[in-house]
Amino acid sequence: MAYQYYVGCDLGGTNIKAGLVDMSTGKVVATKGAPTRSYEGPEKVITRIGKTIQHLVSENNYSWDIIGGVGVSAPGRLDLEKGETVFMTNLPTHWINIPLAAKLEAILNKPVFLLNDVRAITYGEWAFGAGKGVDCMLCFAIGTGIGGGVVINNQLVLNQGGTAGELGHIVIDVNGPPCGCGNHGCVETFASGPAIAALGLKRVVQGQATAIGEMAGYDLNKITPHLIAKAAEAGDPIAQEIWETVGEYMGVAILNAALVVGPKKVVITGGVAAAGDLLLKPIRRTMKARMTVMPADQIEIVPGELGDEAGIIGMAVWASKCGSLGSS
Ligand SMILES: [Zn+2]
Repeated sequence: MAYQYYVGCDLGGTNIKAGLVDMSTGKVVATKGAPTRSYEGPEKVITRIGKTIQHLVSENNYSWDIIGGVGVSAPGRLDLEKGETVFMTNLPTHWINIPLAAKLEAILNKPVFLLNDVRAITYGEWAFGAGKGVDCMLCFAIGTGIGGGVVINNQLVLNQGGTAGELGHIVIDVNGPPCGCGNHGCVETFASGPAIAALGLKRVVQGQATAIGEMAGYDLNKITPHLIAKAAEAGDPIAQEIWETVGEYMGVAILNAALVVGPKKVVITGGVAAAGDLLLKPIRRTMKARMTVMPADQIEIVPGELGDEAGIIGMAVWASKCGSLGSS
């Protein structure tokens, strides 16, 4: 039978966020959050995820009878078939081979499915957001790192154990700086939030004539992509130049990925995407200037539409899809 509601849940390094999603509209009808307290270790965190989801359902007076299952996204490598975490860079003890799905199923008595967090955002944006109705799209989520996801022929690409779609690790400079992944010159080292902040910081430390330092009260820790965007919008030429540079880096990475799959849309999301046209315009310009073998004007570069709810919606839709495959 087709259920009307599924639960989507995001396990983050700081917070657990769960939402109940109406599958007919893709709307989140109720939410519940809790601090992850990851230092307490996987057992306690998993118990807390279970309680958060139980409270989400009971406090909003929904019945478990109309809820088909649960999808949980997590920030790291997962074994999707076993429903286990493989390695989570950002969580203490790294959650090596923790049977997350089975443990939650034992608590909730519903099927539980997993996805990497940015693959979940990709799937949400494709199903009900900026990529709705498009059969082939790429998604880049730019924040502390750069995550990605790929949809081809209306299918989320999860090959090689779900590692397909790690678009932040596309190399744009073979001699570039070391990346957290172990490689060198990945786009993440040039265009992630910390990399953008570092570009602003460098200009201030060099004593260049920019409003960035003053806006940060000359506290270098306060130089963020958000602040550099505000400086650029206020007309600061160095801040504007930084966004041009970042857009060019992203444009080259997007071009490389686009050449492989020929997407109709590229969705840019994550905290840094709040810069809007400051980021999107130079991406589009770079694509147009450098992409010669594929019609760049037929690849739309668009912001995400679902914001913080993209991952929750994506996980609910994913659980619905996996559940219906399992029961057919
Ligand atoms: Zn990398």
